[in-house]
Amino acid sequence: MANVEYRGMSLVIPDNDSEWKEYLAAARGHRLVLRECTACRLLRYPPTHACPWCMELGWTWREVSGRGAIYSYEIVVHAIQPGFKAWAPYPVVLVELDEQRGQPTADEALRIVTNLVTPDFMPEAEANVAIGKRVRVVFLDLADDVALPQFTLTDEPPAERVWRLGAL
Ligand SMILES: [Zn+2]
Repeated sequence: MANVEYRGMSLVIPDNDSEWKEYLAAARGHRLVLRECTACRLLRYPPTHACPWCMELGWTWREVSGRGAIYSYEIVVHAIQPGFKAWAPYPVVLVELDEQRGQPTADEALRIVTNLVTPDFMPEAEANVAIGKRVRVVFLDLADDVALPQFTLTDEPPAERVWRLGAL
């Protein structure tokens, strides 16, 4: 069982964890992997057992690019977890990955909730966060077999107009 410290908090990953253990281990190799259904071939996040689209139980890991755009965000002003108290106010973003946009329906996609951090893993400033901005995955190494995927802004031009609260 891995017991990893992260910002003064304990992350416990049991040996028999069948959903997150391999995901976090792949992240330690700086690979972002998602489960791909062996029947309909759609990717999903989080790494659940059954395919949410067709209920098939078969899956394989597939590496994705880790590139995408901010689909939505919030600013945490009052941190519930003590480890994030010093970070507040800080952004939490919903990243829409480039893979599988508009599938299986026009409104769906692969979206990951994540911290938005600077390249040195500090919280990104609120003024820099906006819907539509481009991001890429970065990996925060925590132990020999555990890293946390996080996302950081890139200088790629956004595909659509960007929007942020208070900047109408
Ligand atoms: Zn499926």
